[in-house]
This record gives sequence, structure tokens and C-alpha cells, in this order.
Amino acid sequence: MQNFQNLKYIWIDGQIKKIEECSIDVLNHCMHYGTGAFEGIRVYNGKIFKAKEHFLRLFASANTMQMKLNYSIDQLIQATEEVLEKNQLKNAYVRPLAFRGNGSLRINAENQPSVMIAAWELQKYFHGDKEQKPGVHLGISNFKKPSSEFLPFNAKISGLYSLNHIMRVNSKECDDVIMLDWRDYVAECTTSNIFIVKNNCVYTPIADCFLNGITRKSVIEICHENQISCQETRLTIKDLIQADEIFITGTAIEIMPVLSINTEQQKKIFNPHENSITSKIQNLYNTLTQL
Ligand code: PMP
Repeated sequence: MQNFQNLKYIWIDGQIKKIEECSIDVLNHCMHYGTGAFEGIRVYNGKIFKAKEHFLRLFASANTMQMKLNYSIDQLIQATEEVLEKNQLKNAYVRPLAFRGNGSLRINAENQPSVMIAAWELQKYFHGDKEQKPGVHLGISNFKKPSSEFLPFNAKISGLYSLNHIMRVNSKECDDVIMLDWRDYVAECTTSNIFIVKNNCVYTPIADCFLNGITRKSVIEICHENQISCQETRLTIKDLIQADEIFITGTAIEIMPVLSINTEQQKKIFNPHENSITSKIQNLYNTLTQL
């Protein structure tokens, strides 16, 4: 349990339980086929950040598997508040998971889904102890993302993340990998979206085959509200190499500068600095989370 600071109680199917009292059956449908929909949510100073957006996405993800949850969005937000209160958390990461439970192991089994919500202390992601990491080193994944015609990539479904897991464990020399899509356009990283800055303009890939992250949408909004030019467009590895700055975005990682990109042909080093566009967006995002 040492990775989950201050996690003592979870909420499961309407009840708060001690974590030691929770177990699942080894014949659980989700464990075999990845039939779960999950979320990652942040809590800043006791306030659940973008709660509605995250739970809406949870329902949409569950819906792709015809999973009908027994709760409303408001009930799940209230359940999250109970978990935070019970674990006495003010700055936390929340992990809701809706999953097909026991019953049948047939692939088309529509076992009644369970919903669980866990939360643990999180101040800054990717930090040693107290300090924010200055940035990340990225590689390029060997695998390509297929088109959304093949898989519903805009859903956070447990089974789909086995691909991200494979990419990550096979790239130990960097912090994360950039996934290209089947057309060789830049898509996203394994748990974040990607942006580049060139000549003071911000660009991000068109989200047509990967998760259109909630943080990604916030960044686009921040840019529009602050007169920073921001365009959704097709990006290639060449655009990454020629960029002035690169940053990645996600609920957990927030806005994180990229320190280097290692492609098969070359390594490009970036020098994040205080006057960069990335730093400006980072500050604006931090203000938003602290409102
Ligand atoms: N892409 C992937 C594959 C992710 O897992 C995440 C994290 N949820 C993101 C992008 C960023 O999404 P969000 O900003 O909603 O956290």
C-alpha cells in the first residue's frame, strides 16, 4: 500500500469500506477482459477539479460496453466527497472504476457492474518528494495507434490501456513515449496529450484517434482566453524536432515541459525557461486549479 498515501477507505457499491476488507473474485469479468471504465481526477484544496466532466466521461466510457451504472453523476460526486472526507484528503488523486463483476465469463456477459472510488494523497505528480520535476524525456513508441474506426479511443476503458502498458514497459530509458497514429501523425503519450510551441503559436494534434483529454481542452480554452494562438492540426516527428517548446498535459501530470525527444534518427534537447509559453500556460492552469 505504500504507493497510495493516506488511502484507508474506499467507496464501493454504495458503501464505505476499509481497504483491507475489499477483495475481488479471481473470476471477475474485468480482470480477464479489461471490461472496466475508469477516471483519474484531481482534488485541489478540498475541491474536486472538473468533477462533472470526469464523471460524464466515465458514463460515456461505460456506455461503450453497454454498462449501465446504478448511480447518477451527482451520486458519484457525493460518493467521492465521502471518500475524501473519510480519508481526510485535501489534495488528492481520485480513481473511480466501473467494472463488470462476477457471474459469467462469457465474452458477451452483461454482469451487473460495480463502481468503486478510491482516493489517495497527491500534491505533485512526478515529484521526488516535494519538488515538481522540471520536465520529462520522451521517446517514440514502436507501435502505432489505429484509427477510431477500429477502437473507441476516446473512452477510458481498462482493456485499451494494456496497449499503453506494453508501450511504456518496453521503453524504460525515457519517462514516456509519444505514440504516432497509423498515418504517422503524432497522437498522444501513454497517459497524456501533447502540444508544441513554434514561433509563439501553440499546436496540438487533432483528437480523432486518441483521448481528447480534459486538460487538453482546458489548455485550448486558456490559450483562447489569453490571446495565445492555438491550433489543432496534423503534426509529424519533424514538427516535434523543429519545435521551440513541447509540453504534455493530463489530469495527473498537469502541464509538464518536455526536456528531450529521442527519435531513432536524433535527440532534440529543449530548455524550458520562465519566459516560455509553456511556463505561461502552466501558471494559468495552476491558477485555474486553485480557484
Ligand atoms: N491520453 C491518455 C491515454 C490518458 O490516459 C490521459 C489521462 N487521462 C490523457 C490523454 C489526458 O487526459 P486528461 O487530461 O483528461 O487527464
